[in-house]
Amino acid sequence: MFKINENYLKLPGSYLFSTIAKKVSAYTEANPGSDIIRLGIGDVTQPLAPAVISAMHKAVDEMSDAATFHGYAPDLGYAFLRDAIAAHDYKARGCEISSDEIFVSDGAKSDSANIQEIFGQENRIAVCDPVYPVYVDSNVMSGRTGEYHPETETWSNVIYMPCTMENHFVPEFPKETPDLIYLCLPNNPTGTTITKPKLQEWVDYANKIGAVIIYDAAYEAYISEPDVAHSIYECEGARTCAIELKSFSKNAGFTGVRLGYTVVPKDLACGEVSLHDLWARRHGTKFNGAPYIVQKAGEAVYSKEGKQQLKEQVAYYMKNASAIKAGLQDAGYTVFGGVNAPYIWLKTPQGMTSWAFFDYLLEQANVVGTPGSGFGPSGEGYFRLTAFGSYENTLRALERIKKL
Ligand code: PLP
Repeated sequence: MFKINENYLKLPGSYLFSTIAKKVSAYTEANPGSDIIRLGIGDVTQPLAPAVISAMHKAVDEMSDAATFHGYAPDLGYAFLRDAIAAHDYKARGCEISSDEIFVSDGAKSDSANIQEIFGQENRIAVCDPVYPVYVDSNVMSGRTGEYHPETETWSNVIYMPCTMENHFVPEFPKETPDLIYLCLPNNPTGTTITKPKLQEWVDYANKIGAVIIYDAAYEAYISEPDVAHSIYECEGARTCAIELKSFSKNAGFTGVRLGYTVVPKDLACGEVSLHDLWARRHGTKFNGAPYIVQKAGEAVYSKEGKQQLKEQVAYYMKNASAIKAGLQDAGYTVFGGVNAPYIWLKTPQGMTSWAFFDYLLEQANVVGTPGSGFGPSGEGYFRLTAFGSYENTLRALERIKKL
């Protein structure tokens, strides 16, 4: 008789975004015709850049001819894309990462969830709190997180590293010793990040205690401050302790197309065993998750026109971020993020809980955001707004919030 993986049952039932969707649909049913503005979910809204679209059209045409048709993609991804990534994302920044250390994938979500599979069950994970929920959820499903305590919304075997206004959202080395450290920088949801010297301290710490840092750089394209690293491999010694996850979703609008990559340096090893070799056995190997057409689109992201067009797209979203930040500050809110990331993180007013503020904003301003508590216990009392809406809607939402 088959058995299920009971760890799946441990995940608390209702997912953050489905609860939000239910609340919004209940509100619109009760208030038909209300003009809801969504500044909640982290999906992009601008269309794919012309350089990307034209590369995709060309690749589609190639698929129609037996002479240029492409079947299964190579297991690491096509060399044309890995070479472009190695040149532009690493060599140009002085990082020593070669194209055969890059594993192309269908996005950072699957890699960030699956990467834990190459590590033993007994590893203890540490996460920034609050953070993108996939890291903890995937470790819950693999049975690594212990028991859930609903009163504190924490897992007994997870080391939480609070990032709050008190420590300027900079994670501190935990008291207990972790084996796997998830760092998401710039951070979703707080929109904050740390300086390169601080990141170097994390690399030194990981090397010292023999831990692996899983570094999610999905929002790297939004970094505007010069003392912030674009890759963890800008830090000395990162090749022996860090795996880096990247996505084409937020820098190039590929959320509906799906493309990302993971870097596992060949120097990263557990005794004699190379983690690079282990990740080469991951699910999907030999049938790379990203199709030829999408990998060609990814290559175009690094073309001269592609780079220019995407710089403009990031600037568009960051104009929204600046407007939200300034508008909320004018209205008396305490606001963080929005400088190196498309997320604005605000302290809820008058000690309101995150969900109470969600209801208040929905009912009084018809604006939808995301309650901070959905990203971890230290997110309680905070709220996330995203810069991914249209500029017009962003301004309209701000006008409404200012009137409250
Ligand atoms: N990593 C972080 C921190 C994210 O916020 C997201 C999406 O919101 C992802 C990864 C997912 O990226 P992808 O669309 O490439 O799966």
